[in-house]
Amino acid sequence: MSVIEKKFLEIFGKEPDLVAAAPGRVNLIGEHIDYSDGFVLPFAIKDRTLVAARKRDDSTIRIASMQRRNKVVTVDINRVKPGLKGEWERYALGVVWSMGVKTGVDLLIDGHVPLGAGLSSSAALECSVATAMNHLFGLGFTLEELARLTQKAENQYVGVPCGIMDQSVSLMATQGSALLLDCRDLNTKNIPFDVAASGLELLIIDTQAHHALTDGGYAERRASCEAVVAKLAIASLRELSMEQLEASRSLLTDTEYLRARHAVTEMKRVLDCVDALTSSDFVRVGQLLNQSHASLRDDYAVSCPELDTAVDAALSAGALGSRMVGGGFGGSAIALIQAVKTTETIKMIEKAFSDRGFKAPRFFTSLPSQGAEIISRR
Ligand code: ADP
Ligand code: MG
Repeated sequence: MSVIEKKFLEIFGKEPDLVAAAPGRVNLIGEHIDYSDGFVLPFAIKDRTLVAARKRDDSTIRIASMQRRNKVVTVDINRVKPGLKGEWERYALGVVWSMGVKTGVDLLIDGHVPLGAGLSSSAALECSVATAMNHLFGLGFTLEELARLTQKAENQYVGVPCGIMDQSVSLMATQGSALLLDCRDLNTKNIPFDVAASGLELLIIDTQAHHALTDGGYAERRASCEAVVAKLAIASLRELSMEQLEASRSLLTDTEYLRARHAVTEMKRVLDCVDALTSSDFVRVGQLLNQSHASLRDDYAVSCPELDTAVDAALSAGALGSRMVGGGFGGSAIALIQAVKTTETIKMIEKAFSDRGFKAPRFFTSLPSQGAEIISRR
């Protein structure tokens, strides 16, 4: 029996029917363009969240997390609706609600995705529960339906206005691939991303910085994009070409022009990155990551000193490319490096941080990994 199965037996007195797993994610490229109907290119990381589940024959849900001292939360399934107060367990109950589960169940969570590091432990939790419920109750939802249902759980039950990228990649990723996701129609395509075969590694640098600007800054960027869309009478920035943007420059404020330029160039970089990956041209991938960072820093203005320091130090250590990931103003950066240089790169970034008096960053490495799956079943 695995650790989680033993713990489940200890807590709930019976063995689980099955164990499901779903990973966290990193977005390789395509930042701040999901809300402009753009393309994104995330991949699943090796760290994942496990859930052990057992059907009950009543309407009781019991749920515990090994990261929350195994404290059991008990609730009647008929009371599980948005507005029901709670803590972390709302991420799981929201999924039970959005999937329309009507039978009681015992659930034990064991999460290995670092919480709150921008690696989407929330989507890993939601998608592991969704995968478990889908199999346990034979619900037959497709992966795309599960992506929408888990996003609905986070939006409407937990109350976090996240996009659909995190859940889509946690559910649909395949090992050795990045997932090209078209945010306009949710079409997906697996793109080969076999860094290991080329002796490369992806280093994730959690700067542990969080600047207060986050919320206001995000809304302001979105508002600028919407202003451009309205002024140019287009459906979204997806419709805009660089030529059209240059031709309409006089209609826009300088800020609007720069924000739109990031969106237009970033969408092109995602597609260029797909081409580069398809031909295993990792030098080109690195250049595109660097261009993405420069655009986020200069045109979109969402970087910060800690992120710039991480990126610059990684490049000084010989990284092929590096960029901030996520919303910005803190959070994580990624660097595409030679696997043999991992320790050296980490040391150089640590030194750059301590030289500037920044809090020490945390490091993770990950190859593109498998999406959600059932890992054991009785
Ligand atoms: P991120 O998704 O970037 O890790 P979020 O703030 O979106 O950060 O999600 C983190 C939250 O998800 C945690 O505060 C907790 O409520 C919940 N969570 C994730 N994994 C677990 C887990 N293994 N056990 C309990 N709660 C978890
Ligand atoms: Mg999250």
